[in-house]
This record gives sequence, C-alpha cells and structure tokens, in this order.
Amino acid sequence: MLKNTFSIFGLLLFFLSNAQPDIVDKDRFSFEPELEINEKIPSPKTFLKYDLGASFTLYADVEAYFKVLSASSGRVLYHEYGQTYEGRPLINLVISSEENIKNIDNIKSKHMLFLQGAEAGKALLKGQPIFTSFSYNIHGNEASSTEAAMQVAYRMAAAQDNETEEVLKNSVIIMYICINPDGRDRYVYWYKSMKRLKRPSNEPQDIEHMEGWPGGRTNHYWFDINRDWVWQVHPEARGLSEEYQKWLPQVHVDYHEQGYNNNYFTAPGTTPRNQLLPTLMKDGPKFLGMQTSHNLISIRSIILQGIVLISFIQDMDQVIQVLWALSEC
Ligand SMILES: [Zn+2]
Repeated sequence: MLKNTFSIFGLLLFFLSNAQPDIVDKDRFSFEPELEINEKIPSPKTFLKYDLGASFTLYADVEAYFKVLSASSGRVLYHEYGQTYEGRPLINLVISSEENIKNIDNIKSKHMLFLQGAEAGKALLKGQPIFTSFSYNIHGNEASSTEAAMQVAYRMAAAQDNETEEVLKNSVIIMYICINPDGRDRYVYWYKSMKRLKRPSNEPQDIEHMEGWPGGRTNHYWFDINRDWVWQVHPEARGLSEEYQKWLPQVHVDYHEQGYNNNYFTAPGTTPRNQLLPTLMKDGPKFLGMQTSHNLISIRSIILQGIVLISFIQDMDQVIQVLWALSEC
C-alpha cells in the first residue's frame, strides 16, 4: 500500500512538473532574426550556452560576457567605475562607431565644453554625437533588465545594417549594465535554488515567484539604492554619480521590471512636478514617453503613464490620440 501511495505521488509529481506547455512567443519577442550581423562578435547565447530569457545569468558570467564583447568589438569600451561591498565590479560600457571610439576623448571634451554653455562651445555642437546613457537592475530582483542589457550591447556591437551604423555614428551610448550586482546575485542564486522545472514556471503560485524577505531588491546592507541618489551613502550610488558627471548625457533611461500583472510604466511621471525644473524636463520625458508607448503598444504591452492606465486598443491612431490627450491632463 505504501509503495502504491509513493508511486501515485511520484506519478502526480511527474505530471505536475511537466503540465505546463513550453510557451515561447518567439514572434512577439524575437531578437530581429533578419538583422545582418557580424558573426565574429559572440552573442549572449553563444557565450552563455542558453537563449537569453531561458535562465537568469550570474553576475560573474555577465561580467565575463561584457569583457569578451569589448575585446571582440571596436565599438565597445569596457570600464569599471567602482566596487560593491561584496567586491563585485561596477561596470559601464561606452558604445559608438569604431571611428568615434578611436576618437572618444576628443568627442567627450567637446561635449563637456558645449555643456558649459560657452559661445565657442555652441559651434562645437555641429557634427557632435548625442550622448545617451542607460542604467539597469538598480533593484536586484528585477533581474530581467541586465539580461536585456546583454542583448542591447550585443546588437549595437554586431549589427551591420544602415540604421544601426547611423545611430552609432551619431551617438555615444553609455551603459551601466547593473547598478546593484550584490542584490542581483542574491536574487539569482535564490531563484536558481528554488526553480524546479527546466524552464521558468508560468504558475504564479510557484515558489520560484515567492521571494522571501529581505529579497534581492536592495544592496548588501538591504538599502534600496534608488533612495540613495540624494545622500550618496553607498558605493553603488556614489560610483555611478561620479561616473555620470564625467559623461553628462542629454538623455538617461533607467530600466526597471514590473510584476507580470502590472502595467509597464513609462514617462511622463505623475504631477505635481518641481516648478523650479526647466520646461525641457517636462517636455523631454513626454516626447520620449510617447515614442516608448508607441513601441510598447505595437508589441501588445499594457502601459502606465502618469497616473492613468492605458489599456490595449486595436486602432493605433486612436491609441496615440488618447495618449496625447491624457498627457495634456
Ligand atoms: Zn525597480
């Protein structure tokens, strides 16, 4: 009887653990398979031996991938701007065309001169690339953003189409690939130890979605680094702020992750805003947020802007009209 009970229990476990279909919406999230790429540049999949998204990547492997990417591409510079309490390097990449990278010191000093507002500086703007920076994974358990950083950096390093080459010629991209490596690794080690299927589970009640306290959101001392930009107590915020001042990008984007039942938030944020901020701080994020919304809706994501929820609407023109109308509120 006991043997039969174990057999039935074993059978049940087998069926339960294999009950989920392999849901991979490759059409929706494919990484531009038709893109012309430089085969000499190692992709995340070649290096890590799995598809991005199939597993979370330990920080040491993320670091190793970016070193290899930089060594194999004239478009990517690898740099460490600090160290966490647990000794992990804080890394940023500088990505641009090979020609710009060779001349990066000169381009950077012209950019800084221009930002000082000197008359001579204004003339220097002609032909200057725009500076944009991206930061990822400040909340360690929003771990998909550093996975995305690997794909973005790879795409910029390897793509050979006209559009990418044009972007690289006209811009310098600075990528802070993971602001909070200690929190990220705390989450990733925990997740891997809880995961029971070969694939990520799509069952919300699965233990792999029930991260306990203190979780990976915070740094080594369980401090939320996204609350440290003013006080600058921790090496993660201090290091990034010092590095940021060396580049002063025109646009900075900070990537987070939402829960699967939440809407994707994008600029503009809710009011009231600090009245002392220049108008550009209101209009710039609104302009970028509209474009982001457009792209998210085109892949059927539900987005959140300001305080208003935008649901999926079939007609794209109607959506854009609604977005503009709401942004005026
Ligand atoms: Zn976050």
